[in-house]
Amino acid sequence: MRAADIQSEITNVLVTEEQIHDKLREIAAQVADDYEGKDLLLVGILKGAVMVMADFSRALRYVVPMDWMAVSSYGTGTKSSGVVQIRKDLDSDLTGRHVLIVEDIIDSGLTLSWLLENFESRGAASVEVFALLRKPEAAKVDVYCKYLGFEIPNEFVIGYGLDYAERYRNLRDIAVLAPHMYS
Ligand code: 5GP
Ligand code: MG
Ligand code: MG
Repeated sequence: MRAADIQSEITNVLVTEEQIHDKLREIAAQVADDYEGKDLLLVGILKGAVMVMADFSRALRYVVPMDWMAVSSYGTGTKSSGVVQIRKDLDSDLTGRHVLIVEDIIDSGLTLSWLLENFESRGAASVEVFALLRKPEAAKVDVYCKYLGFEIPNEFVIGYGLDYAERYRNLRDIAVLAPHMYS
């Protein structure tokens, strides 16, 4: 599915598939350097980070363990509830591990600030964040993000893992959902 197929449902493409892949290669090189000789664990936050994790972990070009956590702070709407609920916990013990959280997007920052605190309390040696996207204007709490793909305007975006009511996750680009689709 490409943006061209759903032109009436989006207002514009913000980040293309090619731009995403270039950026992932750049960040993977940086991460490979920073974590050389360290026991790195990638933790993807379901479901939005599935595409980022798939492409980023393969851009790393070495064997790295992955785990997944599912939390919810969004319903099917477009606004953050601020309440974080664990839907699926990690399978791994974090004690002494260097954890890199892989996220699709930082919006209010509420989910990640909760996750950072939660992971640190489990005895991880370090916890850092890689987020593909961030909306600086939407921040409600400050979250330190060591590896960032793109800063985007404060609009509801879909594609490359990001959904609206479970649709559009398989769109290859990242696009702004047309307001008539949810109002
Ligand atoms: P938070 O507001 O806590 O930073 O964001 C929580 C989660 O809401 C994100 O990880 C992401 O899954 C979802 N989210 C935030 N902004 C958007 C957006 O613009 N589009 C979509 N599809 N999901 C978003
Ligand atoms: Mg997410
Ligand atoms: Mg969602």
